[in-house]
Amino acid sequence: MLQQHHDLLSHTLKYPSNLPQQEQFELAGGVEVSLTDVGILRFEPPQPDAADIVLSAGVHGNETGPIELLNRLVQELLAGTLNCRNRLLILLGNPPAMVVGKRELEHNMNRLFSGNHSNYQGDEAQRAKRLELAVTEFFQQRDGQRYHYDLHTAIRDSKREKFAIYPFRHGKPWKRQQLAFLANGGIDTALLIHSPQTTFSYFSSNQFGADAFTVELGKVRPFGHNDSQSVAQIESQLRRLISAEPVLIDAAAPLTVFDVAQEINKQSDAFTLNFADDAANFTEYQRGDLLAQDGEVEYRAKADGEAIVFPNAKVALGQRALLTVLPVGAEQPFE
Ligand SMILES: [Zn+2]
Repeated sequence: MLQQHHDLLSHTLKYPSNLPQQEQFELAGGVEVSLTDVGILRFEPPQPDAADIVLSAGVHGNETGPIELLNRLVQELLAGTLNCRNRLLILLGNPPAMVVGKRELEHNMNRLFSGNHSNYQGDEAQRAKRLELAVTEFFQQRDGQRYHYDLHTAIRDSKREKFAIYPFRHGKPWKRQQLAFLANGGIDTALLIHSPQTTFSYFSSNQFGADAFTVELGKVRPFGHNDSQSVAQIESQLRRLISAEPVLIDAAAPLTVFDVAQEINKQSDAFTLNFADDAANFTEYQRGDLLAQDGEVEYRAKADGEAIVFPNAKVALGQRALLTVLPVGAEQPFE
């Protein structure tokens, strides 16, 4: 029982596929808590402030640091040491993969949103659909200020340990205040995306106008091996948001914003990356450096300082094998 043990993570790992029973109970102060499905937990204050907040982690099952972060917040909420004053939906994305400590069982779940799950079979496709439904039911209840932070950790080292991916906004301005919120949470790098994706954060941004981000919080480690200090700043920001206290948005917090320079999709089985397998994210290259080859096609850096992000030669054909980025130019619209 979640109500007694306050531990959503243990509960989810124990029942990763089927919830033995739904739970609904009330906290002191009248906050309604509902565990409606595996890893899907809602908090509804009696008189909520304006924000509707979705926090998700574990869409990749082995990305344990953010899962533990959300579990700490849930423990504090259930223990009454953190006040829930905004509506809140907590999602643990891929429980069966969490149990076996794998990023995914069959499919990369963070490519299955915005309906792309219907093109796939299996548990992960069904789960992506279930998560979409949970977010839809949550946001549709009112016209609040909508937020979704989908928390991840990266597979590889990174020259920039923490960074946020800002999904495509279809020409709407990027929000400086959101970037400042993240920067004051220790996430000093952001990456602007310029095309629709099938990620969870794009789904919430595009379908519901949420301020939504994929947030990378460091490197993958097993459960129990994460340093909670390294995420203390963003954890504090999330606590402030949940409890409707002023969040920190000091414009002086360090922040570098990157734009996508090249998005390189794997077109053939001959695709190779021209750097070490363990090259860190945000490693920089000089104009003309060969980055990847796909049969006859060569991909080279187009500018000095062009940096690589998310290289993965093992993706399925047609999927993204490499992004390159450059510091943002003056032409991007911010508000
Ligand atoms: Zn991830």
